[in-house]
Amino acid sequence: MSLRAPPMRQPFRSRGRSKRVTALLGGQAGATSTLADVERLAEQYLVPVEDVLLIAINLHGINGEAPRHRARLQVRLDTARSVPWQLIVPLNAEESPFRLLEDGQLLLAESPIATVERVDADEAVGGYFRDNGTALTLNPNARSRCVGCAFCPNTLEAAADPRLSEERDLRELLAALREQHPRRDLREVREVTVSTGCFEREPAAVNHLRALRSVLAEYGVEARLGFLTSVLRSQQAFEELADVGPFVLRLTAECFTRRDLLLKASKAVLATNWMPEVLRRAVAAGHGTSFTYIVGLDDIEALREGVQSLAPYVTEFPNFQVYQAHNRIMVGLRASGAHELEYYLHARTEIEKIMKPTGLRPAAWECYRPLWYFTFADEPLVGA
Ligand code: SF4
Repeated sequence: MSLRAPPMRQPFRSRGRSKRVTALLGGQAGATSTLADVERLAEQYLVPVEDVLLIAINLHGINGEAPRHRARLQVRLDTARSVPWQLIVPLNAEESPFRLLEDGQLLLAESPIATVERVDADEAVGGYFRDNGTALTLNPNARSRCVGCAFCPNTLEAAADPRLSEERDLRELLAALREQHPRRDLREVREVTVSTGCFEREPAAVNHLRALRSVLAEYGVEARLGFLTSVLRSQQAFEELADVGPFVLRLTAECFTRRDLLLKASKAVLATNWMPEVLRRAVAAGHGTSFTYIVGLDDIEALREGVQSLAPYVTEFPNFQVYQAHNRIMVGLRASGAHELEYYLHARTEIEKIMKPTGLRPAAWECYRPLWYFTFADEPLVGA
C-alpha cells in the first residue's frame, strides 16, 4: 500500500498569500505563497504535507510574539492531532514565515497550521529522558563549554551542565535523574546515549564509558550505551569496549566537505574517506553503529556520495538533522541551495533511495530535527 499522508482530520486551507513568504519557502521560480506552496512541494516529492511543514519549521524557526533564542516546543499539527511532536527551534526568527501567537496558535503566513502546547527553555543540562522514560541522554562533559564547530548553537544557551568526569559526579547525576524519571525507576531505561563531543582523546572516552557502565550497574541499569563521538577510531579501543557492551558507536560525521572550516579540530581530523573504516572496525568488534549528519552543509552530490559510503557499515538508522542557522554567520555556512525547503526534500528522497534497501528506518523521537515524521518513502512510521 502506498501511504502518501497521515490520517487527516480535515485538509489544510490556505488563507493568505505573501511574496516574502514565497521567497523564504524557496519554491520554484514563480511559486506563489504559503500553504499552497507546501502542498505543491509535497505533491512533487510524494511527501505528506505534514512532514513538509515540520521540516520547514525546523529550517526557518518561528517568529514568536514573545521572542526567545532557542526553545523546546511540543507541537500538534491541526490535521494530525493525535501525534505531538517535540521541536527545538529559535523563537526569534523574525524572517520566518511561521508565526506563534500568544494563545499558542501557529500560523504559516495567515493560515493556522498547528497548536504549540508547551514551550520550555532549551538549556544544556546534565541529562534528560525521551521515549517515555526508556531512553536517557546524558551530557556528562560540559556540552555548554564545548566550542569549535561553526554550526553549533550550544554555547549560545544558558548552561546547567557541570563537568561530570568523576564517578561520584555521575552517581549524583543518576540519583537526580531517578527522581525525574516518570516512574522513578531507572531499570526501565533501555538506551543511554552520551551526547557530548567533548572528549578530545580516545583513552579519555574509553575510560569514561567504563566508569559510566559501572555506575549504571549500581542503579540496575542494563541499557545499551550509545556514544556520540569521532575520537573513538582504533581497533584496540573498540576491542577494549567489549567489556562495556552492549554498545553503539554514533559517529559524529556531521558533514563530508569543508570539514576544516566547519568542525572543531578534534572532529575535523577524521577525514571523510576514513569514516567507513571507523564504522567497520566498530562492527568487527561486535558493536552497533550509526552516524550523525547535518543536512544543509554539503551539496546534494557530496551528501549522496558520503551517505552511500557509510550505509553498508551501519546497524542503526543514522541521525540526519536539518541544519538550523541561528545568526547571520550560520546562514552563510549553508551549502548552495540549502536555504530552500526544496533542498531538504531532495536530500530526503536521495537518502531514502540509499537507506531503503538496508531495512533500517528512522525513529522520530531519536532526533529533534529529522527529515521524517509520518512516513519514510511510502511506509507509515506512526499512526497508520
Ligand atoms: S563537538 Fe562541536 S557540535 Fe558537538 S557540542 Fe562541541 S562544538 Fe557543539
